[in-house]
Amino acid sequence: MQIIQKVSQTQDILAKDKKHYLHSYTNMKDFPEEDSVVYAKGDRHFIYDNDGKKYIDGIAGLWCVNIGHGRKEIAEVLAEQAEKLAYYNTFGDATTQPAAELAAKLAELAPANLNRTFFGTGGSMANDTAIKIVHYYFNLLGKPSKKKVISRINAYHGSTYLSHALTGIQSSHIGFDLAHDLIHYLSEPNPYRKPDHLSEEEFLNHLIQEFEDTIHKLGPENVACFIGEPIMGAGGVIVPPKGYFKKMYDVCKKYDMLFISDEVVTGFGRLGQMLSTEPLFEVQPDLLVLAKGISSGYVPLGATMISDEIFEVISQPKADNPYFSHGFTYSGHALSCACGIKNIEIMERELMCHHVRQAGPYFKQQLKTLEQLPIVGNVRGSHFMLGVEYVSDKATKTSFDVKVNLTKRIYFKCKDKGLIIRPIGNITVLSPPLTLDKAAIDTTVAILKESIMEVTNEL
Ligand code: PLP
Repeated sequence: MQIIQKVSQTQDILAKDKKHYLHSYTNMKDFPEEDSVVYAKGDRHFIYDNDGKKYIDGIAGLWCVNIGHGRKEIAEVLAEQAEKLAYYNTFGDATTQPAAELAAKLAELAPANLNRTFFGTGGSMANDTAIKIVHYYFNLLGKPSKKKVISRINAYHGSTYLSHALTGIQSSHIGFDLAHDLIHYLSEPNPYRKPDHLSEEEFLNHLIQEFEDTIHKLGPENVACFIGEPIMGAGGVIVPPKGYFKKMYDVCKKYDMLFISDEVVTGFGRLGQMLSTEPLFEVQPDLLVLAKGISSGYVPLGATMISDEIFEVISQPKADNPYFSHGFTYSGHALSCACGIKNIEIMERELMCHHVRQAGPYFKQQLKTLEQLPIVGNVRGSHFMLGVEYVSDKATKTSFDVKVNLTKRIYFKCKDKGLIIRPIGNITVLSPPLTLDKAAIDTTVAILKESIMEVTNEL
């Protein structure tokens, strides 16, 4: 009886959803016919649907539930803060304890030159803010022509009007009118797809040369900044050649450009460090963009950190507009910031980065065994940010035709067997909560392997 009630409740939710909810990044034509899932409950790296089926959450919601689902401590801190003061603005002289304390904590965690944080509600907004600040900075310095932004093919930086243009996944631009005149794209630094005749070192030099050539083509006086994810996420879990980020930074400095590191995914433990840009990629960025793991997705939160040098310039009042005229109602939202503080406290107390540093190499090593399968071309990534790329021919690295719908088919098989993964193009992404232990890693790899083999047999 109870099961029947649950099922009909699930159907009721789905009927409303199919009729009224406009889903993100969804094929609207196929959507009405596709099976959907109502997720209802979570516990660490497990998630349950509305009918009680249990899954391993192989993607932490969307690369974000780093501390894992169902944390009572977060619920308690949110309830406590909501009762005390859920919201107050942080314009001008107003502030709240959570906003001030989280900003101070981030200054402690970030590279030494980053001591000021602007808060928003997510990664796209944080990247929009970063570009606005870069432009404002150069305007105040009397260099108003420095406006252009250099991004990369297959970068993902968000979905607002500006951040979608920063995103270099060009198929996603089709049909939209974005700020294209402002953004220029370099090649993706993907060693798996490098020209065969180049060694990894030559490939690196080629990428850096392309960057310099692009700056010269646009005119250094017109180029404001470079933006990049240390490891590209949604564009295919692309780990650049060693030393790439540092060399890109050096080029920025040579041409009076700012360097923005987008750590929306790589931040807060996913690579075994609280923040990765400096310890793993040897760069002190001018701006650092954070979201997702900053609140482990329990509430919306994003952050843009700026260097002392930028702050010095933008804090000099100008007679014609003495205000930093940028801000949102929910900037520094007390609930979000209280959640962020508790989230970081949990990560530190439970030594989550240490766990990821221990378990990450094992996870990758186990996943690497899938390269023995006939359609797995490349397993890549780092720690708890991993990807599996499929090819129809390993020698030529030919991708499967989209009509095969390969990664979605693998995804559906995994889902049936109790594992949630993310299909993106020809890649399966894995970005689980940082609580994932050895047993769950083994189950994840086993289910994925079985699913790939089943789909291969059907081809
Ligand atoms: N930057 C990166 C690297 C991301 O992966 C994402 C989202 O996946 C964003 C920015 C945008 O964040 P949001 O979806 O919170 O706006």
